Amino acid sequence: MARPGIEPKTQPEFRAPLAEADPDLAEMIRRELERQRSTIELIASENFTSRAVLEAAASVLTNKYAEGYPGARYYGGCEVVDEVENLAITRCKSLFGAEHVNVQPHSGSSANQAVYFAELAVGDSILAMKLTHGGHLTHGMKINFSGRYYHVHSYGLDRETGRLNYDEIEELAREHQPRLIVAGASAYPRSIDFERFARIARSVGARLMVDMAHIAGLVAAELHPDPVAVSDYVTTTTHKTLAGPRSGVIMCKRGLGKGIDKAVFPGLQGGPLMHIIAAKAACFKLAATDEFRERQRQTVANAALLAKRLKEGGIQLVSGGTDNHLMLADLTDIGLTGVEAEKRLEEVGITVNKNAVPYDPLPATVTSGIRIGTPAVTSRGFREPEMEETAAIILSALSRNINEAEKKKLRGRVNELLAGFPLYPHL
Ligand SMILES: *Cc1c(COP(=O)(O)O)cnc(C)c1O
Repeated sequence: MARPGIEPKTQPEFRAPLAEADPDLAEMIRRELERQRSTIELIASENFTSRAVLEAAASVLTNKYAEGYPGARYYGGCEVVDEVENLAITRCKSLFGAEHVNVQPHSGSSANQAVYFAELAVGDSILAMKLTHGGHLTHGMKINFSGRYYHVHSYGLDRETGRLNYDEIEELAREHQPRLIVAGASAYPRSIDFERFARIARSVGARLMVDMAHIAGLVAAELHPDPVAVSDYVTTTTHKTLAGPRSGVIMCKRGLGKGIDKAVFPGLQGGPLMHIIAAKAACFKLAATDEFRERQRQTVANAALLAKRLKEGGIQLVSGGTDNHLMLADLTDIGLTGVEAEKRLEEVGITVNKNAVPYDPLPATVTSGIRIGTPAVTSRGFREPEMEETAAIILSALSRNINEAEKKKLRGRVNELLAGFPLYPHL
């Protein structure tokens, strides 16, 4: 703040708001806000973060270099950010019951990379879920670092049930004797039995890493079996069901903490993003509230209702339904590809993503399915009545002979539905 009567000496460009300094960019951000406000967001990996998290993420902590860890930094002036990082760590430990926490990974992928870097040597073998059955790039995709540096064995879903087959995973573990078993998925609609994974890992002397990126919010609300107590390592993103900033976290058993901290810094990263760590601290505080738990419960209830209505409307779901926040629709029977359905829904104001279904005959750029999730709409306030209307709009939009006038009508219904749920009215 300039004192009254004293002209600030910083350059005007330095002081100008974004709208003045860079009107083109400001306009793009305004248009993206408008897009988020005016579409029904059903991408299962997305969410709307709270105003508090947005504020922390946009704070002056972005200015601070803090290589190292609280109390042991390579820069001066870290007294405040030390407190911020310790607060994030303490809150994360208490939220998930973790023994050791590292809040510095920039994303879910870098969290996974750090665990592999700490635990494995190049060429060591891992057992993880196939990308085409719902796993993640970092679980061993050929051209990902994980597929190039490690010897990857993979398990998929049962062709009949569309579910994990734990007996088969156990056999694969016996056969391949991996050093690390990876559990967790990006597109699996059912609860995962982490205790069974832990028993399998113990029986072959492997370590277990659970990547709970998608379900962390449900775990925090005790709506999904807990991976933290039974795993050596748990990684997560903070921006999916957990509704925090776009980032990652690693939790592990106490004895593995030193190795993880060394792998993150200086092993893989330089300075931590202190503004994002602050936003994670805010997210962990909010995730410990009754309101958050209630919202996660509603997220699951919304997914269950949507799944039920889509099935009644003739859409097949992989595994026949959902236990969590997402479902995977197989569109083969209704004669649409994933790309076509994604586009059709986009035209009426609903955002989803095309997604391979297990044993998909179509390439990843086309696919036979779409993934649909309820975290974002639930954060926005949707409950059963809005899910009924959303299901009806989706079924009409995907129906065989829809014409342009009908699409326009559906777009109108989307607008009407969203009008009752203003997004970030302060912006
Ligand atoms: C989203 C996701 C990640 C990666 O997150 P990014 O932050 O995009 O790197 C990792 N694992 C799983 C299972 C995910 O779903």
